[in-house]
Amino acid sequence: MQNQRVHAHVLVVTYPAQGHINPLLQFAKRLNLKGVKVTVATTPYTIDSIRVNSSIAVEPISDGFDQGGFNQAPTLEAYLESFKTAGSKTLAELIMKLNNSGTPVCCVAYDSLLSWALGVAKGFGIPAAIMLTNSATVCSFYWQINRGCLTLPVEQETLAAPTTGLPSLDISDLPSFLADQSTNQSAYLALILDKLGTLHENDWVFCNSFEELESELLEALAAEWPVVTIGPMVPSFYLDRRIEGDTSYGASLWNHDNDQCLKWLDSKPLKSVVYVSFGSMACISTDQLQEVAWGLKASNMPFLWVAKEFKDHRLLELIDSIGEAGLIVTWCDQLEVLAHRAVGCFVTHCGWNSTLEGLSLGVPMVCMPQWSDQPTNAKFIADVWKVGVRAKRDGGIVTREELGKCLTEVMTGERSGEITSNASKWRELARRAVSVGGSSDKKIDEFIAKLPPNPQ
Ligand code: UDP
Repeated sequence: MQNQRVHAHVLVVTYPAQGHINPLLQFAKRLNLKGVKVTVATTPYTIDSIRVNSSIAVEPISDGFDQGGFNQAPTLEAYLESFKTAGSKTLAELIMKLNNSGTPVCCVAYDSLLSWALGVAKGFGIPAAIMLTNSATVCSFYWQINRGCLTLPVEQETLAAPTTGLPSLDISDLPSFLADQSTNQSAYLALILDKLGTLHENDWVFCNSFEELESELLEALAAEWPVVTIGPMVPSFYLDRRIEGDTSYGASLWNHDNDQCLKWLDSKPLKSVVYVSFGSMACISTDQLQEVAWGLKASNMPFLWVAKEFKDHRLLELIDSIGEAGLIVTWCDQLEVLAHRAVGCFVTHCGWNSTLEGLSLGVPMVCMPQWSDQPTNAKFIADVWKVGVRAKRDGGIVTREELGKCLTEVMTGERSGEITSNASKWRELARRAVSVGGSSDKKIDEFIAKLPPNPQ
């Protein structure tokens, strides 16, 4: 449905972390491709990292740390508080500026970490849409806590009877904030619960997932859980090769030399390479990194490893010694890598974007979840969608032997055929969800159709 609301103007407000900017930018691009005017708001520190089509405007709003962003803040709490104060003020100023520019803003769509944006939109009488960047399942856990149906810390007995639409779960499958006393008071959980308190005040509650992926849960909770799935928010080209142009999210907060990665991958046989990445935020211990390094070396499989920071000298020595077998980089364009014919397996921390990317590109996964929603995503990858395996921990880490076992299982073992065929199935379902007339595409059309028209 092209050009249906050319004069509608949606302001998309992003949180400046890679895993948050990506889905929001993709949402902005999907709206824009359907003829909606879109302005993206981001912080001054990240604005230069954004490269989108010139028909999407990018404007700054302040988090109070304009020179260095999050890294300048003394604590996460201080950062969030500062963002709330400076962000509310500068977002209001931006809306005033845009409203005076001829095409007033008719909807503010904001990242769920920025719940204060709701108040700003309402202050102008503008409809608001929140974008949840976790799976619907994970959000439903937080929702149940917010409603008092689950209490913290969640105990095994409470989980004995699974919620309708969910498999039987163990404590280790829950988002870490819910079961771990040491982190459940974290600023993140407070932030999550805060946004859920005002969920019903939003005109739309979007989730970066798709109907088919979490159908039972969504059906079971439909009456009280007002979520609309519009994902996966993965650049369209990777879902449907006929769609030219949309080949990246449009933001990279770190520099990379992807040509080097692609050239290296070109020299490897079909589906032979293990791609390893733990995302943008997880801090992996040196002991764990060493086990990964030894596990990869012992597997004799070529590997491409994104390791943002190798500091420990023992590790550097180890990396030197395994250098021949693999390519180690500090960042890459993950989508281009996952889409390469040589990649046969993705060792992932199971961040929600990485999970959706692996699934949408049909790449079998080895799960090494660290914290936050990652354990739940790993449970679904391994036991619900069955597109990978989860590495077991021993003494808090995944040993080299366990990693080796998982790599063999996914790449050549007895279950590799089943896993590969499930991966192809989910790839196709993801493609269909966002193709014209697919479940997610239709919901975006419905959203656009309901946007208040602007005077021309
Ligand atoms: N990513 C990337 N290059 C890398 C590693 C990650 O472009 O070398 C992207 C990846 O494609 C994903 C995002 O960074 O879209 C990470 O988001 P995710 O939710 O997987 O994890 P987080 O970083 O939030 O823990």
